[in-house]
Amino acid sequence: MIGLEVHAQLETRSKIFCGCSTAFGEEPNTQTCPVCTGQPGSLPVVNRKAVEFAIKLGLATSCRIAPVSIFARKNYFYPDLPKGYQISMYEYPLAEHGFIEIMVNGQKKQIQIIRIHMEEDAGKLKHGETPETEAFSYVDFNRTGVPLVEIVSGPDIRSPEEAGNYLRKLRSILQYLEICTGDMEKGTFRCDANVSVRPTGQKEFGTRSELKNMNSFRHVEKALEYEIKRQIEVLEDGGEVVQETRLWDVNQGVTISMRGKEEAHDYRYFPDPDLVPLKIEQDWIEKIRKNLPELPDQKKERFIQQYQIPEYDAEILTSTKAMANYFEECVRLFPEPKTVSNWMMGDLLRELKRDEREIDLCPVTPQYLSEMLSMIKGGTISGKIAKDVFEEMYRTGERPEKIVREKGWIQILDEGEIEKAIERAMEANTKQVEDYRKGKEKIFGFFVGEVMKQTKGKANPKLVNELLRKKLKG
Ligand SMILES: [Zn+2]
Repeated sequence: MIGLEVHAQLETRSKIFCGCSTAFGEEPNTQTCPVCTGQPGSLPVVNRKAVEFAIKLGLATSCRIAPVSIFARKNYFYPDLPKGYQISMYEYPLAEHGFIEIMVNGQKKQIQIIRIHMEEDAGKLKHGETPETEAFSYVDFNRTGVPLVEIVSGPDIRSPEEAGNYLRKLRSILQYLEICTGDMEKGTFRCDANVSVRPTGQKEFGTRSELKNMNSFRHVEKALEYEIKRQIEVLEDGGEVVQETRLWDVNQGVTISMRGKEEAHDYRYFPDPDLVPLKIEQDWIEKIRKNLPELPDQKKERFIQQYQIPEYDAEILTSTKAMANYFEECVRLFPEPKTVSNWMMGDLLRELKRDEREIDLCPVTPQYLSEMLSMIKGGTISGKIAKDVFEEMYRTGERPEKIVREKGWIQILDEGEIEKAIERAMEANTKQVEDYRKGKEKIFGFFVGEVMKQTKGKANPKLVNELLRKKLKG
């Protein structure tokens, strides 16, 4: 049983309770003020935009938005938390009872969203790494008070793969809403996982451990796999799983016990007396609802209808907004959706994956891909050569037309030239010609390959087939 807690950073320009900038990568402690550094007598004021963003997410995940929610203090001490408490929500979160739909083995599955609440981020500790600084730790309060939402899933996730799908879908929703960049490496999208196992047939959940420190989807899946195996082994050896927080160690590929897990009562939550209850008017909610953009599931349905592509294609093509835009731009220029989809899901995604590159940074623009597809359709290049053209476009970022011209990859449509290549292939393989004429027709494919070799893959395959059949018959 897996439950996920995701912290997503809301992309507001200022912090959640003060006017300080949230810009990333500035000099340490240049974006602070008395409020976010917890000076006595300073008062927080909630950022309206942050509330709006959180409501957007609540609506996009079919949650009920609470007419009144209450900010609470979560008390604990840590050097990156100057107030000695974090302002969060506890008993009265902003949104509850929603769900996200994911695909599991081609089937739809709903994962419940138990709650979405708002809170502020803590600062950042940096430990000295050079011989002069290694005795010191530094604290940067620029991140202190940056707005977050915490999204808590129900205990519905049953495998690391489902967890990965859920996280990808959630991130995609946040990105479609344009309220979070979803960058796990930069920490704008972070995930903790609660994991427990139980014997088949047992109703109550087993004791869980909480996993932290996973900063990519792949790490989440790996950490879960490891932890599930570990817990099963503990139980099968007659041991007991202890409730604790465990860290994922990327290098060793194991989870390591960090500390006993705190219970909520350890934090002494109470309503923050500096902030009034957050009352949200129904009119405002409706206004936000009306202005929600097209979300991944809606876009997917539209793609299936409008472009007549399979659900599987639509699911992948709408998995990020950038990918969906790329597809639609390509189809606008080359209106054969299934052809575009095939190239995107095949060659394009393979190259991007190998490079770990996002589609926004793809050197092959929709313009160039569609130009290449037109060249195939018009007979300028063969589908086989197109694979090389694509690779070359990806490598150099050049126009397909220029690549084809410079490399001399234009398709051979001249029958005489193809016939010559066929003759050469037959002369070099007289034994096979005999075999073919004796009825071993399977050998035909071999000759197609030989002719393609002779023409460096440039011969028009349809002509090669026709002419070869004639010539081989003798
Ligand atoms: Zn501030």
